[in-house]
Amino acid sequence: MSEQQQPGTLYVISAPSGAGKTSLVRALVESTPDIAVSVSHTTRPPREGETDGVDYHFTDVATFESMVAEGAFLEHAKVFDNYYGTSRNAALDGVSQGRDVILEIDWQGARQVRESIPQAVGIFILPPSRTVLAERLQGRGQDSAEVIQRRMEAAQAEMAHFEEFDYLVVNDDFDTALSELCSVVTARRLRGEAQRWRHASLLEELLATGP
Ligand code: 5GP
Repeated sequence: MSEQQQPGTLYVISAPSGAGKTSLVRALVESTPDIAVSVSHTTRPPREGETDGVDYHFTDVATFESMVAEGAFLEHAKVFDNYYGTSRNAALDGVSQGRDVILEIDWQGARQVRESIPQAVGIFILPPSRTVLAERLQGRGQDSAEVIQRRMEAAQAEMAHFEEFDYLVVNDDFDTALSELCSVVTARRLRGEAQRWRHASLLEELLATGP
């Protein structure tokens, strides 16, 4: 992935459950051209309303393990007893064609991506307060206090890694958080390196000598 020739950016977006990451990322993709979310593989069973190949590639453990052995994953991790992984092709094909690609993954995967692709951009999304997070983790109010407490502990374990990311977005007001996310993407696209590639013919024309 040479950014000199191909200006696509790989974004790694992480957040604790309850921060609103999925809704924000969906709105970012809907409002921005040439950016897509990479579809991960997982061994967890589909939830109601999820579609294979759209939300995840739902895979059994044996298939997942053989993909690990083949080196098919850019990163993979065990999260809440299930395996999750980003296939190298899903992440890098778009980037090598000049498009932006988002990985919605946990901190363990984010760390692996940073090691293999240092130019990847990390964004961490935080909830606006502990109270709001607790409310969001209570779900529909049908779960026991113990289950909610475990969710809070998992959220804190994820949030403990905020310093490993380049950008922090606090999702208090949704539209503000969305516009902050869009600003990160816009600023990345305006870098001289990316613009030189995008506007090569304009620059050539502007700098041509003669009448
Ligand atoms: P869920 O099962 O609720 O969709 O996702 C659970 C957690 O797994 C979330 O924190 C999500 O970011 C993370 N996750 C989803 N896909 C991947 C992936 O491909 N790699 C890693 N490392 N984590 C993932």
